[in-house]
Amino acid sequence: KPIDDSRMPRHRVTIKGKNAPGRADTFKELRDRYHIHSQLMDNLERYGYEHPTGIQSTGCPILLESRDLAAISPTGTGKTLSYLLPVFTLLKSPISSSIANAGKGIRAVILAPTRELAHQIYNECLKFAQGRKWRIVLFSKATAATLADKSVQDKVDILVSTPLRLVSSFRSGHLSFHNVRHLILDEADRMLDQEFLVQVQDIIAACTHESIQKAVFSATLPAGVERVALDMLRDPIRVVVGLKDT
Ligand code: ADP
Ligand code: MG
Repeated sequence: KPIDDSRMPRHRVTIKGKNAPGRADTFKELRDRYHIHSQLMDNLERYGYEHPTGIQSTGCPILLESRDLAAISPTGTGKTLSYLLPVFTLLKSPISSSIANAGKGIRAVILAPTRELAHQIYNECLKFAQGRKWRIVLFSKATAATLADKSVQDKVDILVSTPLRLVSSFRSGHLSFHNVRHLILDEADRMLDQEFLVQVQDIIAACTHESIQKAVFSATLPAGVERVALDMLRDPIRVVVGLKDT
């Protein structure tokens, strides 16, 4: 259910990094600055998203200007849309409806630590994809088998997965990440601790496209983990959203 944002807590936002793009306080402003597709704007309205949250106001412009981002913002503040809106916008159009689209194969990968979280993100993707022919895949045993067929893989726009499942598939040579332009680590505190770090590093190494954009999102990021995160980003901007009264 959508947040009743009239009652949402006000957030204090800290931004660090070179030449950080300015925040956008309305979805209209984002649209005017970055040419958000009208269908996506319609979907925001349909689901009752009236105003961007703090992380959306600051994070969306950073990602839309193709910068790497480390974002820390509390649970329930809309981190998912803060990366989905840029990813959908930067991919411009679904592969399946655009012959002109240079390069084929999976173009965006979103990683989350559990199947449940990956599933939630997938459902958010479907909400915002409505009305266009985006091919979004929630990676599972079944979809892994389907994706082993290169011609199917070539038509995927966005892949959502846990790291473990993904790694075993590309180790066996069934997945190509050479065209991945956007790699998002959600719940990065868990993704970058000992449990998943090696897998995540393998996935990053497999994403060989020169202009890949990487971003990490988390509710908290302990100093040690943050250092690991910043090391894997290129010239990153760091955004921290905190509750005003804490
Ligand atoms: P987080 O990942 O930071 O915990 P989510 O992305 O899961 O937060 O969003 C929490 C809830 O708020 C979801 O139900 C989502 O649909 C809703 N939401 C996100 N952004 C907005 C917004 N700008 N306006 C209204 N509801 C929103
Ligand atoms: Mg989340």
